[in-house]
Amino acid sequence: MSSFKPHSQPPNPEGDTALATQQVSTEQLEAAVRGAVITPGDSRYDDARRVYNAQIDKRPAVIVQCVDDADVTATVNFARDNDLDLSIRGGSHNPNGFAVNDDGVVIDLRLMNSVHVDPATKTVRVQGGCLWGDVDHATHQFGLAVPSGIISTTGVAGLALGGGIGYLTRKAGLTCDNLISADVITADGNRLTASANENDDLYWALRGGGGNFGVVTSFEFQAHDVHTVFGGPFFYDVKKGPEVMKLFRDFIMDAPDDMTAFFAYLIVPPADPFPAELQNKTVAAIICAWTGPLEKGPEMTQPLRDFGPPLMDGTAEVPFPALNSAFDGAVPEGLQHYWKADFVDDLTDPLIATHAKHGPNIPTFESAMHIYPVNGAAHRVGKTDTAWSYREANFTHVIAALFPDPADTEANREWVRNYWDELSPNSSGGAYVNFMHEEDQERIKASYRDNYDRLAKIKAKYDPSNLFHLNQNIQPA
Ligand SMILES: Cc1cc2nc3c(=O)[nH]c(=O)nc-3n(C[C@H](O)[C@H](O)[C@H](O)COP(=O)(O)OP(=O)(O)OC[C@H]3O[C@@H](n4cnc5c(N)ncnc54)[C@H](O)[C@@H]3O)c2cc1C
Repeated sequence: MSSFKPHSQPPNPEGDTALATQQVSTEQLEAAVRGAVITPGDSRYDDARRVYNAQIDKRPAVIVQCVDDADVTATVNFARDNDLDLSIRGGSHNPNGFAVNDDGVVIDLRLMNSVHVDPATKTVRVQGGCLWGDVDHATHQFGLAVPSGIISTTGVAGLALGGGIGYLTRKAGLTCDNLISADVITADGNRLTASANENDDLYWALRGGGGNFGVVTSFEFQAHDVHTVFGGPFFYDVKKGPEVMKLFRDFIMDAPDDMTAFFAYLIVPPADPFPAELQNKTVAAIICAWTGPLEKGPEMTQPLRDFGPPLMDGTAEVPFPALNSAFDGAVPEGLQHYWKADFVDDLTDPLIATHAKHGPNIPTFESAMHIYPVNGAAHRVGKTDTAWSYREANFTHVIAALFPDPADTEANREWVRNYWDELSPNSSGGAYVNFMHEEDQERIKASYRDNYDRLAKIKAKYDPSNLFHLNQNIQPA
C-alpha cells in the first residue's frame, strides 16, 4: 500500500508530515486490479515510468500495469474519484511524454498486447497495448497487413487514434481509416463499443481525435492483402536535393495507389548493410514500397533509377514486417527528441528551396527530415468523414531531431526551429497531431480546423471534466 497527494491540493507550507494527513491511499486500487500497482520505491518503478523520449523524466504517484478491461476501469475510476492526473501509456513514442505525468496515475497497457486475426473476414482484433511489430507478426502468416507507420516499435493506439501514416497510406488509407470498431473505457468508467452502428459520434472522433475520449482497450481493423513488397531506399548526392525532391513529387503525385514513397534528408547510419563509403554521409533519399505484383516492382521504380545513378539502390523483394522494421535500429529508445511538422498542399518551389537550405544540415545521424505523401486512398475519405481534417493536403513534412547526448539539445533544437520557422509560412496552417511537439491550443485547433467544434462537443459528452487531458487536448465544449 502507498499513499500520495491529489493534484488539486495546494502546496503545504508545513511540509511532508502535515501532508500525510491528506493523502490518498492505493489500498483500494490494489484490491480492485489484477495487474501490478507500482509506486515510488518499488524496484520496478524506474523501468515502468521510462518512456521513449529520454528528455521526459516524470515521476507518477502510481503506475498500474493493467491486464484486462476491468483493471483499466478500476484505474480510471480511481484517478477520477481522487482528482488525480491520468495518463495512458500505449507504445510511449509520443515525444511530448503524454504517457506519463508527475504525481498522478498511469494506465500502462503494455501487458495487454494480444492480436487475433480472422483470415476469412481479413479483420484483426488488437489489444490497446500492442506495438505495430506485434500486429505485423500476427497478420503476416495470413498474407495480410494493417496500414501502420514506418517503425515497428511505435504503439498501435497512439498512432491509430491520431491518424497513422506509413507504407500503406496510398494503397489503403490512414490507419484510422481502417478502424472498424473500438472498445473504449470512458471517463465515467463505462465500457462502450464505437463503430458505424454504435456510438457513431465516438467512432467519428476516435479516427484522428487522439486519446481524448477514453482508453481504447481493443481495436478492430480491416487488413489488406500484403505479404512481400518490392521496396527499400534510394540514396542520392545531397547536392541534388532539390532535383530529387521534384522527382519524388512528380513520381508520387502520378503513381498508382500500390506505390508509396517518402523523401528524406538523412545521414547514412554508420552500420551494415550500408556501404562503408556512404556511412555518416548526408544524402537525399527516396524510400519506396510497391505492393502490386512483385515482378513489376523493378519496372515501377525505374524512374527513380533513370533520374541518374543513385549512390545506392537498396530496393529488393522484402516481407512487409521486415520493411516495417528496417529502420527500428536507427531510432532506439532512450534518445532525446525535438519535432516540428506541417501539412502542405503541394511541394512548391519556395518550399523546395527552404528544404535545400536546411535539410542538409542535419546534426546527428538519428535525426532526419521526412516528407510523406498523404494522397491516394487517404484522399478518398471526405474531410468531415473522420476527425482527421487535412484530406486535401498532398504531403506532410516532419523535422525530427533525435540525439543521444543531452549536451546537443541546443544545436538540435536550433536546427529544427530555424528549418520549421522558414517552412511554416508556406505550409497549409496545421499539422498531423502525431508529429506535433510542444504545441499550443491554437495549433491544435488549426490542425482539426472545421472538425474542432464537433470534436469539442463529443468531448463534452464523453469526458466533460477533461479527465483525459494528457494528449493533443480537445477542450470540452
Ligand atoms: C521513432 C518514431 C517513429 C514514428 N513513426 C511514425 C510513422 O511512421 N507514422 C505515424 O503516423 N506516426 C509516427 N510516429 C508518431 C507516433 O504516431 C506518435 O508519437 C504516437 O502518439 C505514438 O503512439 P504510442 O502509443 O507509441 O505513444 P504513447 O506516448 O503511449 O501515446 C500517445 C498518445 O496516445 C494516448 N494513448 C495511448 N494509448 C491509448 C489507448 N489505448 N487509448 C487511448 N489513448 C491512448 C496517450 O495518452 C497519448 O496521448 C513515430 C514516432 C516515433 C517516436
